[in-house]
Amino acid sequence: MNAPDPVLIVGGGIAGLSAALGVAPTPVLVLSRAQGVKGAASAMAQGGIAAAIGEGDHPADHARDTCVAGSHHNDLAMVDILTQSAVDAVHWLEQQGVVFDRDAEGRLQLGREGGHDRSRIVHAGGDATGAKVMQALVAAARSAPHIQRRADVDVDGLVLRDGRVCGVCLLEADGTRSVVHGRAVILATGGIGGLFAQTSNPADADGSGLALAIQAGAAARDLEFVQFHPTALAIPGVHSLPLVTEALRGAGARLLDEVGNSLMDGVHPLADLAPRDVVARRVWRACREGGAWLDAHMLGASFPKQFPTVFQACMARGIDPRVQPIPVTPAAHFHMGGVATDAEGRTSLPGLYAVGEVACNGVHGANRLASNSLLEGVVCGRRLGQLLRDMPPAEAAESHYQVLRRKPSLDAASLLHLRDLMMQTMGPVRSGAAMHAALADCAAMDGWQGTLAQMMLQAAIARQQSLGAHYRVD
Ligand SMILES: Cc1cc2nc3c(=O)[nH]c(=O)nc-3n(C[C@H](O)[C@H](O)[C@H](O)COP(=O)(O)OP(=O)(O)OC[C@H]3O[C@@H](n4cnc5c(N)ncnc54)[C@H](O)[C@@H]3O)c2cc1C
Repeated sequence: MNAPDPVLIVGGGIAGLSAALGVAPTPVLVLSRAQGVKGAASAMAQGGIAAAIGEGDHPADHARDTCVAGSHHNDLAMVDILTQSAVDAVHWLEQQGVVFDRDAEGRLQLGREGGHDRSRIVHAGGDATGAKVMQALVAAARSAPHIQRRADVDVDGLVLRDGRVCGVCLLEADGTRSVVHGRAVILATGGIGGLFAQTSNPADADGSGLALAIQAGAAARDLEFVQFHPTALAIPGVHSLPLVTEALRGAGARLLDEVGNSLMDGVHPLADLAPRDVVARRVWRACREGGAWLDAHMLGASFPKQFPTVFQACMARGIDPRVQPIPVTPAAHFHMGGVATDAEGRTSLPGLYAVGEVACNGVHGANRLASNSLLEGVVCGRRLGQLLRDMPPAEAAESHYQVLRRKPSLDAASLLHLRDLMMQTMGPVRSGAAMHAALADCAAMDGWQGTLAQMMLQAAIARQQSLGAHYRVD
């Protein structure tokens, strides 16, 4: 049996588990769609975690890069919290058992990624940082007596009593429905990449938590800001694409067009390491004009050791990246927008909290700086856990509760159509006319994904100037 009246956490990625560990000793129930790390974007993260931990680096420099990448749409107080807590977050992860890569002298190896003015990214297992971090957090959660986990459940509704969120509705694989009550509900359900035809995200990152919160009346913000990763491995017809980490460009790899010319020279002073939105737009255009490739042959024999995940993904498709350029395409990668929260993770609905990619506290502005989101999961997850640690159990209430379930899902064909529509109209390059047409199309759809897409389109239509990842040709 679960401990009575736990804090309920929907999502077992880095944000959900950091919150769960931070709540100790208050009982927690973590709910997720799949066992262990399956279905969590966190386990797929490659580049690593940004922290001003190197010699001569300073949180203020990290903060400056965060705001430049975010087109200064960032919440400055949140940026300070994130960048000043980063070194502590790395040490906390080490205490949980994460072994970050070090050089022969025992110094942390620091990678470099787009938008950073220096090498600042700690990583583990080369490009397997997410997997290593999640292994450690899952193990820590398993041995924490205050944490219970329940997997293979879809949370498809929120329970409210007197306007306060006090539980969730569960749908099991066999169709069984039930309600679980808690003293607070944390949404940590990740992003929305699954709503686009090409994504680096797992299919589970379909925005269901965001849809639930909006349907219950919670405020959302910045929904128009979607980051596209410039370099997913281009595999025609595949929805969830393997990522070709930006750290490769940090290590010297270069983007080329079909005849071998540099794609980024002359486009931005940082060339191949320009902010993601700039690179993604260039690659998007190149893909329409004949294709885009990442040339990483200069890494030679060190490729498999430095980037084992990318190496395996390429070799599995018959591409040897030591000698052949890698075909790449932009893919929906990260949602800067989400359920609006304050710096602690409170949403506008009492009893409902949000953390990680589903939340929007404004830290990423209009475009996230590379390797700031695992960091956000840890920093904000722990902060929220500590906030809820002292929350008393809910008093036995007289009044009845209200159940707000999500609308049914779109059928398979409509979902495919929606994903194509989102990729073409809400992709790296947008226009008012195309978005208006897509809005009408989505309004005719029945499922909850259509409603969420409409809200994102409305936000993008309303923002008439280009900003960060939101780029309008009109
Ligand atoms: C390929 C890839 C590489 C990346 N590389 C980096 C990197 O190097 N550095 C970096 O900082 N960021 C990186 N990111 C981004 C980062 O990984 C994510 O933003 C972050 O992990 C999100 O964490 P999260 O805990 O919010 O969500 P997730 O890790 O996605 O976890 C979401 C959880 O919610 C559950 N869930 C969702 N909906 C429901 C529902 N309705 N009911 C029940 N459970 C539900 C899922 O099962 C899952 O357990 C990368 C992302 C990808 C996809």
